Amino acid sequence: MKKFLLLTFVLSILFTSCKTPKDVSNSVQNNNSDRYYWQQHVDYKMDIDMDVNSYQYKGKQSLVYTNNSPDVLNKVYYHLFFNAFQPGSEMDVRSRTIADPDSRVKDRISKLKPDEIGYINVISLKQNGKSINHETVGTVLEVDLAKPIQPGEKVTFDMVFDAQVPVQIRRSGRNNKEGVALSMTQWYPKLAEYDFEGWHADPYIGREFHGVWGDFDLKLTIDKNYVVGGTGYLQGEPEVKGNKKTLHFKAPKVHDFTWAADPGYIHDTMQVPNGPMLHFYYKKNLPAKNLQGWKDFQPKTVELMQYFSENIGEYPYEQYSIIQGGDGGMEYAMSTLITGKRKLGSLVGVTAHELAHTWFQFLLATNESKHEWMDEGFTSYISDLAMNEVMNQNKEHPTIGAYNSYFRLATSGKEQPQTTHSDRYEFNYAFGISAYSKGEVFLAQLGYIIGEENLKKTLKKYYDDWAFKHPTPNDFIRCAEKVSGLELDWYLTDWTQTTNTIDYGIKNVSENNNVTTVELERIGLMPMPIDIEVEYTDGAKEQFYIPLQMMRGEKPSNTPRTLLNDWAWAYPTYSFSINKSKSTIKSITIDPKSYMADINEVNNRF
Ligand SMILES: [Zn+2]
Repeated sequence: MKKFLLLTFVLSILFTSCKTPKDVSNSVQNNNSDRYYWQQHVDYKMDIDMDVNSYQYKGKQSLVYTNNSPDVLNKVYYHLFFNAFQPGSEMDVRSRTIADPDSRVKDRISKLKPDEIGYINVISLKQNGKSINHETVGTVLEVDLAKPIQPGEKVTFDMVFDAQVPVQIRRSGRNNKEGVALSMTQWYPKLAEYDFEGWHADPYIGREFHGVWGDFDLKLTIDKNYVVGGTGYLQGEPEVKGNKKTLHFKAPKVHDFTWAADPGYIHDTMQVPNGPMLHFYYKKNLPAKNLQGWKDFQPKTVELMQYFSENIGEYPYEQYSIIQGGDGGMEYAMSTLITGKRKLGSLVGVTAHELAHTWFQFLLATNESKHEWMDEGFTSYISDLAMNEVMNQNKEHPTIGAYNSYFRLATSGKEQPQTTHSDRYEFNYAFGISAYSKGEVFLAQLGYIIGEENLKKTLKKYYDDWAFKHPTPNDFIRCAEKVSGLELDWYLTDWTQTTNTIDYGIKNVSENNNVTTVELERIGLMPMPIDIEVEYTDGAKEQFYIPLQMMRGEKPSNTPRTLLNDWAWAYPTYSFSINKSKSTIKSITIDPKSYMADINEVNNRF
């Protein structure tokens, strides 16, 4: 039933997107969100002619852009990502000047020869048939409009361009280290997003993306011996002319389009029951053990797809492709590119992560440059849980690795707040741990704060309210607030906008007339509600819970616990009593399950 409703929703959007310029259907928000919401819309039609020998391609792009914003637009911007792969580009210089460069990049861009660089050269651009001024500035095309675009108006941009696929340095490119011919990611002139925060024409320096939702239609002409996989549904049989063929792909309701091609791909499929068709593309010249791995992990991918669909929200497309390519693992629309020479566990692990990204950034399309922890962190969280189940890891604390990485960062002196733009971290290390590990702890620890069941419901509500849109951190925490009934803005603020840390401790335990008094102290600046476990010498255990006053409530509990008085944050200490003598107490432990990211656990136990 749910699937049927979702399909109807997708179809209705497709249908309404063909209406007159006055139609602003995409700005009509569902009733679930708190804010007035609108989003821009794109309909791409592209004709691409690829020369697999020179790695150059010619493109024609017709882009219908709908301005659903309440603003008049005088300019538009495109990303020309391939221009990053040129000596002296921002990506090149940044990689050569940052203290801990990505080992895949280092100084490799600086050494590219003219026939190895990447570029997108815009030859002509028209707005509704009229030529317009444009200037290429690094990886961004700045466009002066012939006529401003009014709120609700649709305009058509027609572009002709030449491009060259760079030698693979990072993510995209030709001839990756495993010999995959073409990894075509961020390969076309891509309109920048304009949202409630204005334009996001970020230069491509290192990482992270943000795109406009819409429908893609690609006709790709390429050597007839190449096997092509990627975003979008293949329309009919390829049209063969001479030694080339033309493939026609359509992808509805996506914000990016990726493909990869190689003459040596094997192409397998596996159906997810009541779900999408999975496609696997991998090279036939892989070593035998890796070829076996690519067979063995297919049923595991089915299980992963089912896990994410059940625990976040139904996968809404009819296919998903896992393609050997790229330089590690990277998520794209309806697909991922991963390197292929991996053992089974690594194949499942990387696929778990990249597939989870379908939800956390693809469908729940946060602005990655600004909120990198929401895609990498949430993805890391749910994929750790999925791996625990699918690979029968039986870990009691599947996210403990992320906590330990975060603790190292928090005590390293290198931490910057998670609100730092993803390109503006001083160290790649600090970006990585902040986005992946601290982002993962954000969710795992939210389970500690509002309860595991509420966290599960929050993820589903987040999907229901915000799939196919651009949610913000506040939109997510509002979902958690609505599910739990608790006030949680303090958590979002302290965790993501500061580097404040959590440190609670047991300061003193004393006895008077067979009553034991436990004195706790808050050493770190960040507030938290407190779980406490007391173990008695007879082996019995008792749970205590101290609500954080600013939450205005308590997390639910399925097991018996003693509810203590609120702890208001400003008070550095807090005391409570146990009606037993000190000698009957074996131990007292703050947060016995270690889901509160307390940077000093030594003082958590008496
Ligand atoms: Zn990731």
